Formats: sequence, C-alpha cells, structure tokens
Amino acid sequence: MTVVRLSELLGQPGPSTFLRGVVAGGRYANAYLFLGAAGVGKGTAALAFARALLCETRNGPKAQGGLFDPAAPSAPPDAPADDACGVCEACRRSAQLTHPDLKFLFPVSGEEKDLDKTVAETQQALREDPFFVFNYEKAASIRLSLTRELLRELAYRPYEAERRVVVVRDADRMREDQYSALLKSIEEPGASTVWVLTTARASRLPATIPSRCQRVRFAPLPEPAIRQFLEQRAGVGNSDARLLAALSGGSLARALTLRDGTPLKERDRALALLEPALRGDPASLWLAVRDVTNFGRAGREVLRRMVEFNQLWLRDLLRARYGAPREALVNRDRETEIRRQAELTGPAEIRRRLMVLEEMLRTIEGNVTPELAMFSALSRLGGERVAGDPWPPHPTARWDY
Ligand SMILES: [Zn+2]
Repeated sequence: MTVVRLSELLGQPGPSTFLRGVVAGGRYANAYLFLGAAGVGKGTAALAFARALLCETRNGPKAQGGLFDPAAPSAPPDAPADDACGVCEACRRSAQLTHPDLKFLFPVSGEEKDLDKTVAETQQALREDPFFVFNYEKAASIRLSLTRELLRELAYRPYEAERRVVVVRDADRMREDQYSALLKSIEEPGASTVWVLTTARASRLPATIPSRCQRVRFAPLPEPAIRQFLEQRAGVGNSDARLLAALSGGSLARALTLRDGTPLKERDRALALLEPALRGDPASLWLAVRDVTNFGRAGREVLRRMVEFNQLWLRDLLRARYGAPREALVNRDRETEIRRQAELTGPAEIRRRLMVLEEMLRTIEGNVTPELAMFSALSRLGGERVAGDPWPPHPTARWDY
C-alpha cells in the first residue's frame, strides 16, 4: 500500500491544510464527510487522516498508562505535529490496515457467504498494488452484516488509541436503516469514535447525514498534477500521460484505470469512427458503431470514452485553428493531421460538432440504446440526419435527441 500522508495529498491543498490543522489541534468532530468527484483522492485522504489521528506520537504510550513496550521504536524527534509520523507501531499497523482501532468499510458485491474473502482480497490488493483503484459493480453496497458487527464493537472502548476511526468509503451505498444506526452513533455524546465518510454522490445520502458531519470538499485534480503523477510515479510515457490526463476529467482513478488499456490505440479507433460519418456512409457507420459498442455491460463506459476522445480531438482542432503551439495540443503525436483538418474546418463547424458530442454524452446516460445514440449523433456530425426511413430498423429508434 502506498502510504500517503496528509502533507502529500495530490493536488488537494485545501483539504490537506484543513485536516492537518485538525490533527495539530487535536479536537475532532464526531464525523467528517469528504465530498468530491470520484477518483480525486478522498479515500486516500480519509486513510491518511485516520493514520495521523492514530499515530502514537500524539496519542501514544503516555495516554495509555504504560501499556506499551518501552523498547518499542519511538517516534523520531522531528515527527510532525500535524501528520502521521510514519514510523511508530501504530503508523505501521494502520498502514497495513491491521490497527485494531481503525475500521474500514467499503462497498462490495457478490454473495454473503464469500464476504470475508472478498473483503480480505480487496484489502490485500490495496496493500500490494500502489495504484489500486476501487471499482464497484453497480450493485455493490456497504454490507449490513459488516455494519452491524462494527456497531456492536463501537459499544466498547477503543483497544489502544484514545479514539477509534471508522472510514466508510462511498458511504452513499448504504441502506436506510444503516444510516439511522450511523446517525445514532455520530450523535452520541462523548463518543470515542471519529467517523470519516466519503462520497462522490452526496445527493444520495439522507440529508441528515451531511448536516451532522463536518464537510470537507475535494476539487477535481488539475490536469498537470495528474500528468506529472502518471509520468513520475506510474511510469507512463509522455504521450499517453498527456492523453490520459486530458481524458481523466480531474480523476486520478480514472486516469489509472484507462492506463491499463492502450489509450493511444483506443483513441485512434474512436477517431476512425468519424470517417464514415463525415463521408456520409450510414451503412459503414452502423457497422463501426456496432463494433465498438459490442462490449456488453461495459458498453456505456466505452462509448463515453469514444465520445470524449473525439471531443479532445475537436478541441485540438480549435486550438490549432487559433494558432496554438504544439505543446498546447493533447493529441500532439498527430499534429500534422490536426493542422491539416483545422485548415479545412471552420470554427463554427467544429463547435457544432462539439455540441453534438456533448448532447450525445447526455443521451448515453439516458435510457436510449447506446449504439443508437452514438449512431445518430455521429450521423449528425456528418452534417445531416439520415434521411428517409428510420435507419437502422429498431423498435426503440429515436432521432430527436
Ligand atoms: Zn506514528
């Protein structure tokens, strides 16, 4: 597990400063809610906060009345007052997720009988893979059985530290009765538990939750921060890193997930889709669309990415049109083509195409069959609707997106 400290949070100076202030002051709210888009570092920050809170440099042996082995390695003299020291026994164990006063809940899917195994495997992967990204199935949830077990434990004093920390990742994936139990615990006076909830979908939480929590907002990560991280920490080549950062929408998790594919190849495939559209060849277009969307459940996500590749390309055309230098282009490796296309296409036309794609992204989220949405939008990119009879014949065919 890559142990990130509060002082090292990527591209989140606000939360980093705030949380270190809390740690330095030693006065904790009963609950914190980390808000922000997926993949911007809320989960990493939550665990970093938990480690800082549990670090023995501040809450250690003295407070426990000498329970600890005096021969145990002590914190270094220059240990920060506002962060985890990173070397004490508590830090070591919380980094391994084995500290008895650190509870970590996250959504899982699969059968109840495999629950322990699933949780253990996920934790193991998180410890071993420095770029581990939580990816949930739609139905993944924070399991009731685990919450119950946790709440039973909360009735007792913490084992070693002054307080225990419960980190709940993606807390919006709970059931109504879990929230009521959680609220009861948050509101308990003199509680020795600090809750840290994270969510990318705050609107799915009952309003009572945010109102009882100290809220901490996480912004989308700046593109250069993601690019730099990919290049320097994840060993991604320059062209790929630039493209991934541009596609990431400020989410490191997204960039890391995309990295596992072959982004440049995927982009070329996405751009190739445009050719039959611009040629006005609906039959080839339909075949091409069927080809890229033939990915079962992942279809929508693939589709979204295809659209986004095309958006990046069109934005490059606009940039080139206005004389932007090579460094400003995302698809720098295809600069000659960008310059040539930019000369042939007016800015108004480029903007129109961008708008069609924007609309298409919205449609993909809706209930319309994804390949139809794509086909229709791409046909319009070519400048006109497919005339005459509905094409392709399909009972849910709709053209008025
Ligand atoms: Zn420590």
